Amino acid sequence: MSKVWNFYAGPCMLPDEVMEEAQRSFRNFEDTGMGVVEISHRSAEFADIASKAESLLRELLHIPTNYRVLFEQGGGRGQFAAIPLNLLPENGQADYFVTGHWSNCAAKECAEKYGKAIIHECTYLNSDGQYDVDFSKMTVTPGSTYAYICINETVNGIETLENLPDTGNVPLIADMSSNIMTRPIDVSKFGAIIFGLQKNVGPSGMTITIVREDLIGHARKYCPSVLDWAVLDKYGSMFNTPCTFAWYMAYLNFKWIKSLGGVEELERRNIEKSKMLYNYIDDSDFYVSKISPNVRSRVNCVFTLKDETLNNEFIAQSKALGLVGLKGHKVLGGMRASIYNAMPIEGVKALVDFLKDFEQRYI
Ligand code: PMP
Repeated sequence: MSKVWNFYAGPCMLPDEVMEEAQRSFRNFEDTGMGVVEISHRSAEFADIASKAESLLRELLHIPTNYRVLFEQGGGRGQFAAIPLNLLPENGQADYFVTGHWSNCAAKECAEKYGKAIIHECTYLNSDGQYDVDFSKMTVTPGSTYAYICINETVNGIETLENLPDTGNVPLIADMSSNIMTRPIDVSKFGAIIFGLQKNVGPSGMTITIVREDLIGHARKYCPSVLDWAVLDKYGSMFNTPCTFAWYMAYLNFKWIKSLGGVEELERRNIEKSKMLYNYIDDSDFYVSKISPNVRSRVNCVFTLKDETLNNEFIAQSKALGLVGLKGHKVLGGMRASIYNAMPIEGVKALVDFLKDFEQRYI
């Protein structure tokens, strides 16, 4: 098998060590004679995996004891519904700080089905012609039950962990699907954090919600039980049969992150990788980043070729060299290199070498 550098936005590349351990466990988990996906979620073996996954996550993110950790199905979009269903009273209102595609989808889900979503369009084109975020628009409207933000817009390549809005007593609910575990965070600043595993911590099939205890227990009567945080909490996230394989993979990823030195070390690596890529793009007259350096994502680097008629050629040639998944999201076009936790610096170097070579041949 020839070496491939996988730049897909998720599902995406996972660490070699994790994939190898999963491969062994797939047929024979810890000498039980059973594959890890063959073990009951009620077994002692799985209970051990589940509890180790939660304790590692708590340790790595320094999650305060008054927060619960829920392991769920239904994806990020499931949580777009779960958030209003669990938090928003009938006829209530919430503020949505829109910085790109995914926060827009979350706002729409709330507005079209569950209640009033007050949308604050927070991105604008700055005087350099780049997308920037106007944090002054992130203010809470009196009477809102919660405020919502997507900290890393996977499609747009916008990350806004610095300059978080101060929402006072109104809980800030954050989607961190694509940048969770890529850097330290202060969990206590949030009412709840939601994320799918499929970028930095595992395969698709599971979503995790970290939620402050006092925000549990307010779900609407008709909230489906599988989305009701109180039900999930009461049953240890096993009200329905959970996605045991994804849960196991999260455990392996958390173990891997700890072995490297935690999210602090990953942050150092992610800064180094993203700088290498953005510096090259900024220095070139051939590629363009339309995102202001203030808000550029460290993990989803969105760029375009100045001459977009070369897009197909660029994709075909990069793929032939084993650089896979560089095509931008369909709503935006252009290119996107997702360089999550598992992508080593060698992969980014290989990409920069290709960018240089392509530029020299087509400029
Ligand atoms: N939020 C973000 C930031 C995402 O990147 C995605 C998916 N890529 C979602 C939400 C939606 O997740 P899902 O497809 O699991 O519903």
